[in-house]
Amino acid sequence: MLDERRAALEEIASEVRDCTRCRLAETRTRAVPGEGDPDTEVVFVGEGPGFNEDREGRPFIGRAGAFLGTLLGSVGWQREDVFITNVVKCRPPDNRDPLPDEIAACAPHLERQLAVLDPAVVVTLGRFSMNTFIPGARIGQVHGTVHPVDPATGAPNALAFAMYHPAAALRSTGVQRDSLEDMRSVPAVLLQARALREEGSAQAGAGESAARVVAPGGAPTEPGGPAQPTMGPTAGPAQTGDPVTATRDRVDQAHTLAADPVDEASQLTLF
Ligand code: SF4
Repeated sequence: MLDERRAALEEIASEVRDCTRCRLAETRTRAVPGEGDPDTEVVFVGEGPGFNEDREGRPFIGRAGAFLGTLLGSVGWQREDVFITNVVKCRPPDNRDPLPDEIAACAPHLERQLAVLDPAVVVTLGRFSMNTFIPGARIGQVHGTVHPVDPATGAPNALAFAMYHPAAALRSTGVQRDSLEDMRSVPAVLLQARALREEGSAQAGAGESAARVVAPGGAPTEPGGPAQPTMGPTAGPAQTGDPVTATRDRVDQAHTLAADPVDEASQLTLF
């Protein structure tokens, strides 16, 4: 299964590197398909490659990427634990916003990646990614909240969790603080998504989950229910061969870390 996923992702990446479906192919240096663990449960989707990413062909390797690493590290994760990609795989000139027709042209690449990865959680980074998975939302209102995912995106069994783009955090200490607080909720969202998938009712429960939003900057709230998904042994037995449980131990440990106070000052000195 893992080898099949890895091969399928590499096939998509190869097509992306040769893709000429939109005008961004004319100005890119290198396309940036994305990278990460083929067996991950969590996919981070940003906007598009920047200057450094365009040169190296890898996502989130500049200062914004360093802050994404800080966010992941704040819950005990590394970028190798997740998959990181963008809604457009080629750099818009001068870092302008991607245009609607460019996003539409590139959407099949992202859909195919998500279909292969079948993530439990899609973390959207910034408004262009957010609008792909949570149409009509406003980033200032929905960051730090969880939403059902439109099956047309390629991730029918996932929950979407909205965050600011890491580049925005470089321009605002308030966004830095919000991003670190939002990130603390991601492990709990993963547990919520796992529970829905293990019930075999992720999609049916997605509408319900929309009401169980994660309050911005706070822990998940669930009217009439527990504030946090149950952790550790009570989260259910691991199922051999089930990709959903492949990183359970690691993520459970990470969730424990996330429950501890975050020393934001120490994190922010990393860039
Ligand atoms: Fe192809 Fe996407 Fe690059 Fe456009 S942005 S050329 S659709 S890979």
